[in-house]
Amino acid sequence: MIPVDHIPLAAIVDLVNEYADETRRVAGETGDPYPVVGAFEPFDAGRDELVTLANELHGVFADPVSAPDRLNRLADGLGLEHRLGADGRLVWMHSGGGSSLSAAAVAALVDFVDEAGSARLGICDADACVDVFVDTSPAANRAYCSPRCHSRTRVARWRMAHRHETSTNRDRKTS
Ligand SMILES: [Zn+2]
Repeated sequence: MIPVDHIPLAAIVDLVNEYADETRRVAGETGDPYPVVGAFEPFDAGRDELVTLANELHGVFADPVSAPDRLNRLADGLGLEHRLGADGRLVWMHSGGGSSLSAAAVAALVDFVDEAGSARLGICDADACVDVFVDTSPAANRAYCSPRCHSRTRVARWRMAHRHETSTNRDRKTS
């Protein structure tokens, strides 16, 4: 068994948003180069591996109801197991059947869902964006991947409401 490395949740979010086919397609970035994410460098993962993992994890974030099942399946495939460490605390180990990056990412998400619940994983509500996020807001009501998507949506909704208002006024004048 091989010890599982630590990876921050923020790096997993970056991985999904920069490498998943769906996030790139919806954002119109399919032809763009894949950015280098520093947190993955120690794992020495190739681009195909990053894309495959990002696609699998996008499914986890996109559907909180099926997220536990999906994570269990991924963990099984990687041979992820809890073991007691020398200090008597539980540590993650994996069989080596998958990559160390996949093992680290899935273990981190399992721990997070165990602690916070899968409803804290989410996907952006904005148009033309399916980027994922981890909701750490006190009210657990985060709906957007970024402040940019939040304000973009607010402006679009305001314009829509305003357009509706002016066309109603115009209708009133002509009738
Ligand atoms: Zn977004």
